[in-house]
Amino acid sequence: MGIFWTRLLEINLYNLKENLRSLRKLLPEEVEILPVIKNDAYGHGLLEVARALTEEKVYGFGISEPYEAHLLRRAGFIHPLILLSGFEKDWLPDIKVLRITPVVTSIFTLEWLIDFTLKKAVTFEFHLKVDTGMHRFGVPMHELLEIIERLRENPQLQLTGLMTHLACSERPEDPIFHAQIKEFKKALSLLTSEGFNPKFVHLYNSAGIIFSEDFKGNLVRPGIALYGGYPCNKARARIRLKPVMTLKSKVVEIKHLKKGEIAGYGPTFTAKRETLLGIIPVGYGDGYPRILSNKGFAVIRGQRVPIVGTISMKALYLDLTEIPSPQLGEEVILLGGEREEVPADELAQLADTISYELFCNLGKIIPRRYKE
Ligand SMILES: *Cc1c(COP(=O)(O)O)cnc(C)c1O
Repeated sequence: MGIFWTRLLEINLYNLKENLRSLRKLLPEEVEILPVIKNDAYGHGLLEVARALTEEKVYGFGISEPYEAHLLRRAGFIHPLILLSGFEKDWLPDIKVLRITPVVTSIFTLEWLIDFTLKKAVTFEFHLKVDTGMHRFGVPMHELLEIIERLRENPQLQLTGLMTHLACSERPEDPIFHAQIKEFKKALSLLTSEGFNPKFVHLYNSAGIIFSEDFKGNLVRPGIALYGGYPCNKARARIRLKPVMTLKSKVVEIKHLKKGEIAGYGPTFTAKRETLLGIIPVGYGDGYPRILSNKGFAVIRGQRVPIVGTISMKALYLDLTEIPSPQLGEEVILLGGEREEVPADELAQLADTISYELFCNLGKIIPRRYKE
């Protein structure tokens, strides 16, 4: 039995893998890749994405919660899992059992780790995140010596990675970009001169990989580019990415409006001519941004058509007047598409957001279909 659907999320795992290969082409041979699959792989499905990516060469995965590691371990993944955005004290037993690599982001998270290893008589490998200027997670530079001191006193802890995160990796021309890299190099040489040699040195997300020049570190953390999102318009000149998430729906109602008739809540739409409206069963309840009312677009028969009227919880209107005799049941593309008919970053810009948010929100739609 086929499942009847009026909206469908298609995830193209072939394109996902191709995006990984395109990123790899920008990197020296020795640099390893840690795909970031936090937040259900940006809405694409944690396990399916992880499975597809392990068919390529990846070092491990970047995650944000122990629960993600639980799902991955239960599914049989044995790869290193790095908990990128720090941890809570009471996560430590799970972190140990699930063989997660924690990231220390402050003196006090280091103290939690020390307490835990002493109480349980266990060892721990971890990565250290330094704050090189973004002022989010990370140890401030002036506290590094204190950290080093504590590490000397606690050989049960093994520093296997040094990392930072950049505030504007999509703008390499910004002085902050270079200032952060300079700070990071300082942190690295301080550690080295104190006798610590972290095996992994990493600082770049997708934009960083695309725009960085000489200094690459030896591990990178791509997220959005794997999912076919360009971190910014300029990135299109440097890399060709393929869409991974496609949202399709169908015309479920057609309305003929006379000039002057209205449609939808508000009403925010009045027909300026005789108008054919197609009603599509997708709305903000599905994660489609309501702010795209009277602004967004979709593609039907390869042609762009505008969204008109106010988007409701489970429906939106398309103006189909320019489409010759539109039919009930016709397929429309609301995001992505085989030929990137609806580019995620273009739609995101219209919605005053970024493709990341569109993917995370629309990623909750079921049913999903995976294309291998
Ligand atoms: C989410 C995340 C990334 C991935 O960033 P993209 O811009 O999606 O490539 C990399 N590093 C850290 C620390 C992150 O939290």
